[in-house]
Amino acid sequence: MIEPHSQLEAPHKILLIEDDLNYAYLVELMLSDSQQLNCSIIHHKTLADGIGYLNQYGAREVAAVLLDLSLPDSEGFDTLGKLIQRFPNLNIIVLTGLDDKGLGVQAVRSGAQDFLVKGYFDDGQLAKALRYSIARNNILRRLEETQRIARIGHWECSPQDHYFTASEETYRIFGLSPQRPFSCEELMEPNCPFSILLQLQSEAQEKGKVQKDLWINQKDGERRYIAAVCTANRLSNGAFLFNGIIQDITERKQAEELKKARDLAQHTAKVREQFIAGISHEMRTPMNAILGLSNLLGQTHLDEEQTGYVQSIKQSSEVLLGIINDILQVATLQNNKIRIEKKEFQLSLLLNNLVGVMKHKALEKGLAFSTEIDPSIPDILKGDALRLNQVLYNLVGNALKFTDNGFVKIFIRLQEEKENRVRLRFDVKDSGIGIKENELKTIFEAFARVPQSGRLYEGTGLGLPIAKSLVEVQGGQIEVKSTPGKGSCFSFSLWLEKGTSAQIPKAHTPEDTPQLPANAVFRLLLVEDHKLNQAVARKTLEKKWKNIEVLVAENGEEAIHLLRQKPVDIILMDLQMPVRDGYSTTKYIRQQFQPPLSEVPILAMTAHAHISQDESFRKHGLDDFVLKPFEPEQLFQKIEYYLTHIA
Ligand code: ADP
Repeated sequence: MIEPHSQLEAPHKILLIEDDLNYAYLVELMLSDSQQLNCSIIHHKTLADGIGYLNQYGAREVAAVLLDLSLPDSEGFDTLGKLIQRFPNLNIIVLTGLDDKGLGVQAVRSGAQDFLVKGYFDDGQLAKALRYSIARNNILRRLEETQRIARIGHWECSPQDHYFTASEETYRIFGLSPQRPFSCEELMEPNCPFSILLQLQSEAQEKGKVQKDLWINQKDGERRYIAAVCTANRLSNGAFLFNGIIQDITERKQAEELKKARDLAQHTAKVREQFIAGISHEMRTPMNAILGLSNLLGQTHLDEEQTGYVQSIKQSSEVLLGIINDILQVATLQNNKIRIEKKEFQLSLLLNNLVGVMKHKALEKGLAFSTEIDPSIPDILKGDALRLNQVLYNLVGNALKFTDNGFVKIFIRLQEEKENRVRLRFDVKDSGIGIKENELKTIFEAFARVPQSGRLYEGTGLGLPIAKSLVEVQGGQIEVKSTPGKGSCFSFSLWLEKGTSAQIPKAHTPEDTPQLPANAVFRLLLVEDHKLNQAVARKTLEKKWKNIEVLVAENGEEAIHLLRQKPVDIILMDLQMPVRDGYSTTKYIRQQFQPPLSEVPILAMTAHAHISQDESFRKHGLDDFVLKPFEPEQLFQKIEYYLTHIA
């Protein structure tokens, strides 16, 4: 396409290399008179000066070169050859005399854009030849622009002909400046950044075509990933030409690798979570038997020594259970699987319960244990009480563990108040052994424990990382200040919404559950495949209620079969069982039986600690759950609640 002529455009630069000053003047005159072209002439008298200009200002600045072949420093066809070799994309219009018109034809065959016979062309012909050059230039520029956007470059090389040209984008992909094109000779140097192109060429000469993706190193050390296609064609003079296209696909490659890494990380996290959940389940199941049997053993006639042993078994089992729970929780937190609840709770009640659970330890050690809540804090708040409780439980547990004299105190202050929310600062302060400055950072890492000379403190090093993560998922940050020998203070701040008392979900507490009399008559179905746990649950229940009838099913199928023959008042359902699991059995009972049996209370009794993390068990038709190893009192209380509330 020929560009419409516009005076607004910057003039096109035409380089005239001509030693005959009269002739040069004539050309300048022709062009200055031209109505068709807006151009400016740069005139040089020797080939060296012309090449000097192109080197200095860049060949791309010049729309066309008008080249006389007979110059003081170069004669004949050689003049063109030298210029083309150095600047392969240049638009060269050769000026010949009438005698050497043949040279002009040959020049066009060798890469010149056109030729004009001196004395025989007029300003119209000159303008026409130049306009073609300008149009070709514009097309080349557009091609360069397209290549820049698509990150695609091309190059051609024929070493036998000393010919090498590469598009601007090829230079950029290699981290080089397009303003400084390489000659074919430079390409042949061993350290040339383009030497990979020569390698591709020699492969293409053998195979005809090469297609490969490879990494290249840029000058400043950056690596780019390119897709290269290269072909080799034999020219009529026997030499090879090659022709190659490269595309910078680094971003695509990086995205692919990122996706691969992410998929792998997700897969690993999933496998790890399943593994830990599985292990934890496998450990909790026998723990249920150990704890349950210790409880039952504790209720038989034992002498003092035996009672002590049973107590020790129970205590050790509880420590072990704590560790299993911590490990499971760390895995859950690491997989970002924790979902933070936003429910109403009563801060004072949460704190009272916490103190109730922990005060025995303080009493045992003779420590002053107290709380101080800023009275302006609203008592009803909205947030994740379970997680807040756990953070405080871990921090207070540590404070009590690492303090032998003095106090442990919980402070809660109102830091900031907005219309519907408050920012609370929690401090757990103790007068214990303290932590050295250099240990302060590491104590929040999983399994990190400060070695204490001469004294062994029980623990796994998971309490603080769990507390830290739980504070962070609630949008806060945990910090610690400590002086060795004086004490420590662990603090965090949380935004909590203000609540209204109306919505507090009522937990069923022993107080509001009518007790079933010891002689209550009811039938309970226990669905459980683990023999020892069957025995533990059955014995525990039969000791509590004299007239309870406990039916036992080994799996879900057996449970359904039993229910067809005998209705029951309540079901304790293990979840993971052979033949038919607890979820599908519950679904079957809810859908296939008639009321009232289809509405029988079903409590999951499971070693899968995950069940306590949200309410999703309800979706499966389960009313509630008891976590194995079960607390007998909790189990009794739940059974009482469901029997008295449904009846
Ligand atoms: P654990 O208590 O099971 O060792 P934690 O993660 O809860 O694990 O704590 C890590 C370590 O941080 C502890 O072993 C102890 O060295 C130090 N630490 C935590 N809390 C206190 C505290 N209140 N006083 C002194 N040292 C503490």
